[in-house]
Amino acid sequence: MRKIWMLTASCLVAASVMGSAALAQNAEAEAAAAKASAAAAVARGKAQTNPNDPLEKICRIGPRSRETEIQKIEPFKVFDNLYHVGPCYVTSWVLTTPQGHIMFDTSQEPFVDLIETNLKKMNINPRDIKYIIVNHGHTDHFGGAKRLQEFTGARVVATPQDWKMIEETAGKPNNRDNGKPTDVPKRDMEVNEGDHLDLGDQHLIIHTAPGHTPGNLFIEGLVLHDGAQTYRGIWGGGGGGAPGLAGAEQGVKNAEKVNAVKGVQVYIQTHAWQDPNGYPAGGVHERAKKLATRKPGDPHPFVDPATWDARAKRQLETAKRVLAEEQAKAGKSK
Ligand SMILES: [Zn+2]
Ligand SMILES: [Zn+2]
Repeated sequence: MRKIWMLTASCLVAASVMGSAALAQNAEAEAAAAKASAAAAVARGKAQTNPNDPLEKICRIGPRSRETEIQKIEPFKVFDNLYHVGPCYVTSWVLTTPQGHIMFDTSQEPFVDLIETNLKKMNINPRDIKYIIVNHGHTDHFGGAKRLQEFTGARVVATPQDWKMIEETAGKPNNRDNGKPTDVPKRDMEVNEGDHLDLGDQHLIIHTAPGHTPGNLFIEGLVLHDGAQTYRGIWGGGGGGAPGLAGAEQGVKNAEKVNAVKGVQVYIQTHAWQDPNGYPAGGVHERAKKLATRKPGDPHPFVDPATWDARAKRQLETAKRVLAEEQAKAGKSK
């Protein structure tokens, strides 16, 4: 990985020259983003489900999605070098290479035991995991990192902005684990926009898309093997911007950045409930079900460039609409 320390130093300089008004504005935007994501989580928890719905829906949305046991799903292999080892509602992926593996997200307690068991079931040696990349500084993504770092010996990777969030979450109640205090990993590796992470045949390019959190990531360049075929994947969808005019402007930049990544064939989601999550194409769990019954010569159910392209296009259209609304609001208040 390049530029890590240099960029860290320049970030420190930028922070020290930032005025107090800008800092206050940042804090306001962060609080608004936190409020918006908490409201979305409540809405997902209250979403209507029907007792006849498939398990992969019930464990994602609706009141039963808060139950611990329902989350403990079996691990599955999606490509020759990509494994799903986490609980149902938030993913934890392992991308393997002959030179060591990369884990994407860690979920949170009480699911770290599940991840450890699932790695074993998939015959993945935890000590071969070299990097654990945290998508963003929310507990459902980094909450397992401290224990998994001890278990694997891997470096934990996040943006400096979200390392700050992680540090601030130390000791706060984990609402998936009866309010027990959250254990956080020590600040380890920092990545910024444009950094590369190379391991084996993987040459990943890191992108930041601030909004959902100040240092939200998405990563392009995952190389996925399916027999003789290889496909290009993207991890994370970039998300929107933060509330308010500045957040909406950033949201358009994020969407443009996502759309600039060409040739995406596989969307590796961070949450199983992310759009598109229903039939016919479905999200992670629907596609996994199709994969389990795939016959030789059938297309790979996770390879779906058309759905990704439509999603990216929709993200940009939505971001532009939100920006226009925010600009109209700002115009009126002048
Ligand atoms: Zn989040
Ligand atoms: Zn999340």
